[in-house]
Amino acid sequence: MKVFKFGGASVKNPDAIRNITNILKKYQSEELLIVVSALGKMTNTLEEVIDSYFFNKSDLSEKWEFVKNYHLEIIEELFDENHTIQKRVEELFSAFEVILNKTNNKEFDCVYDQIVSAGEILSTTIIQQFLVANDLPSIWIDAREVIRTNDTFREGKVDWIVTPNNFINEVKPLLSKGFVVTQGFIGSTEEGLTTTLGREGSDYTAAIAAFSLDAESMTVWKDVPGILTADPRLFKNVTKIDRLSFREAIEMTYYGAKVIHPKTIKPLQNKSIPLMVKSFIDPEGEGTIISENFEAAYPPVIVVEQNQALIQVARKDFSFVDEESLSELFALFARHRIKVNMMQNTAIGFSICVDNIPNRLNKLMVDLRTFYKVFKDDNVELIAIRHYQENIIDQLKAGKIVMLEERIRRTVKLVMKDIPNIERIN
Ligand code: ASP
Ligand code: MG
Repeated sequence: MKVFKFGGASVKNPDAIRNITNILKKYQSEELLIVVSALGKMTNTLEEVIDSYFFNKSDLSEKWEFVKNYHLEIIEELFDENHTIQKRVEELFSAFEVILNKTNNKEFDCVYDQIVSAGEILSTTIIQQFLVANDLPSIWIDAREVIRTNDTFREGKVDWIVTPNNFINEVKPLLSKGFVVTQGFIGSTEEGLTTTLGREGSDYTAAIAAFSLDAESMTVWKDVPGILTADPRLFKNVTKIDRLSFREAIEMTYYGAKVIHPKTIKPLQNKSIPLMVKSFIDPEGEGTIISENFEAAYPPVIVVEQNQALIQVARKDFSFVDEESLSELFALFARHRIKVNMMQNTAIGFSICVDNIPNRLNKLMVDLRTFYKVFKDDNVELIAIRHYQENIIDQLKAGKIVMLEERIRRTVKLVMKDIPNIERIN
């Protein structure tokens, strides 16, 4: 059997859904598990619904209506007027409205998962029904009945005993009956509360399924021809990498390459299941194959993380930032869920480059200021270059101020900001 994963962009509107249906027609004779994300950017929209629910109730009904209409309009275009899908999604809307109408929900992360999961539940319902309507026998399953996690809401940790067993017992027997369609991103606790695996987690869902079912391969269908040497929205002359080792893919995603969710590779590597990254725009294209033991002379690969902040701390008494202070600092980062993307220490200072998430950083800053002098620079970017060449580093540095630089084996990391545009007067 094989596992396919279709992300939001591949199902963002009726044409996109028709397109993936055409792709799937070519795989009719295969045993396929199909993992689907929420339609388009629906997860972001649902995050707005959740924000309104907690902080701005007056916006809530308008935001929720938008979610409903988005799905209803797609249904209207894809299905006959009196198709049963209409009734089914109305039932789903009502189920989520029960949660939205409760006024005593307090736990943000838990409520977030109960609501944000609507995106995947709705998308998979629509897509499975559309496949059936197009003569592709398909079965819908609820990933929450298969993927078991702990109760760390918004970042559920997978139970690797219960989950593979569920796949074998509940999902495997269905594969011979048609395509099995399920949701990416979501799971549930033992008590039956919905959890999510972290943003962009649908790739990870597909990997969990591939691992559990000993898939022959897993394919992620994307809007790019495969894994590229840099983000084509930021750089010219970007090329596709045809083959990558698991190890190289892990390194790239670790440094922030957004092509696949970082947790995706490990389960596949453990069972030597190759991962293909292919284009839903050009489905016949070769894509990129990520597999075991493939070593090559890789081209330089550039990964840019924008929207970073550089925080520099020094002790107020100018003493050294020693082991004890470092362990205090890291305890604070963990408590505020700050992801450290790069760090460096000098005699009296310690610098970290982190994702710029203002509400978390502001709270961190308050705590840091008790013992430290703190400087924060908001508009920095972090660039990692794998398999670097000096001329590329020079090009990237042009017009920038380099605030931190680090070289470890094949990787250079730079924290930089634009040189301010200062014009001389005379
Ligand atoms: N829909 C979820 C998100 O946008 C999961 C995914 O697409 O992978 O984060
Ligand atoms: Mg996505």
